[in-house]
Amino acid sequence: MAALAAAPDSDQTGPAVLRGGTDAPAVPSRSVVIFSGIQPTGRKHLGNHIGGIRQYVAGQDKAAPAIYCIVDLHAVTVEYEPVKLRERVYDTTAILLAAGLDPERCILFRQGDVHEHAELSWLLSSVTSVGELNRMHQFRDKSAQQRRLVSAGLLFYPVLQAADVLAYRADEVPVGEDQREHLELMRDVAERFNGRFGETLVLPASRIPEVGARVLDLQDPARKMSTTGATEQGTVYVLDEPGTIAKKFRRAVTDSGSEIVRAEDKPGVTNLIEILAVVRGVSPEAVEHDFAGRGYGDLKTAVGDEVAGWLAPVRERYEALRGDDSQLEGILAEGAEKARAIAAGTLADVREAMGVGPARRSVGPAT
Ligand code: ATP
Ligand code: MG
Repeated sequence: MAALAAAPDSDQTGPAVLRGGTDAPAVPSRSVVIFSGIQPTGRKHLGNHIGGIRQYVAGQDKAAPAIYCIVDLHAVTVEYEPVKLRERVYDTTAILLAAGLDPERCILFRQGDVHEHAELSWLLSSVTSVGELNRMHQFRDKSAQQRRLVSAGLLFYPVLQAADVLAYRADEVPVGEDQREHLELMRDVAERFNGRFGETLVLPASRIPEVGARVLDLQDPARKMSTTGATEQGTVYVLDEPGTIAKKFRRAVTDSGSEIVRAEDKPGVTNLIEILAVVRGVSPEAVEHDFAGRGYGDLKTAVGDEVAGWLAPVRERYEALRGDDSQLEGILAEGAEKARAIAAGTLADVREAMGVGPARRSVGPAT
């Protein structure tokens, strides 16, 4: 049952639409806003690069603004080492910059620097159903992996994620297929909020790539390539050396038969075809056509070599960027300031709509 049914009745009438903070026009003209978050795991993999990062880079030319966040507050929901978290944030920042994010053309920041996310998350929890959270696949998978403690934070992860996105009134959220469910949940949350408290939040749409939305573990094509819970040999890291990448692809598990076509009973081959299509910037059909009559070995060698060539410049730029913590910190701090300016406006509107804190004084003509 939806949470709304369990929520106390409200006799409030909804407030007028308030967008962009107190002094913004009621209905400002706005171009598309893109938002996405990525975990500071440091070792980002090919699935992250294809499903997420590649789209973030493209989003910079399309959105005003494109906002990207390194989600340290999400990272603390599973076991982690506090002394390493900051380092992993810098690793991830450097990977994103190396892949093509440009702080002049996007807002790049660390989630924990913008306190509005945490407060908004709490406020949104009042229109989030525990039943829905409990059903999320990510919660089910990750809670099963926890040895010591299944934290309430892990259950709440999608609420914080909803706050991340809704704080910026984002229209589009570039993500991989695994996040579809969370995106649907955050749309439900926004819709329920607007229904109960008045039109305040924007319902975001997921942007899931047509090809490469779910890159599979090369050793276990029944699973997605993943930071947690995948095999080391089946996971290609953005920072792997070219030789390592080629070797991982050469050892990729393929399927029975010999034809190079995409099919449900050929997840391993389908995965390789899709990866190569993304790297070449062509359709999977074009790859199938190119490899007609050739063997799996040829395909594995080609994908390995081409992925290695594709990622090499990212690794090289990373090496150049990663050494300077203070430069990375400066970029994140500047990003956080810009992010805060937007998120604070939304949070003020949400508080006003919910009756939290003192009423906002209406700005009338000076007397
Ligand atoms: P974890 O497994 O711990 O959740 P992760 O590998 O999913 O880690 P995230 O930082 O959570 O890493 O994901 C960053 C982005 O990469 C998200 O948009 C996610 O949807 C996308 N992504 C993750 N894995 C894949 C994959 N195998 N294929 C395509 N996209 C992926
Ligand atoms: Mg993930």
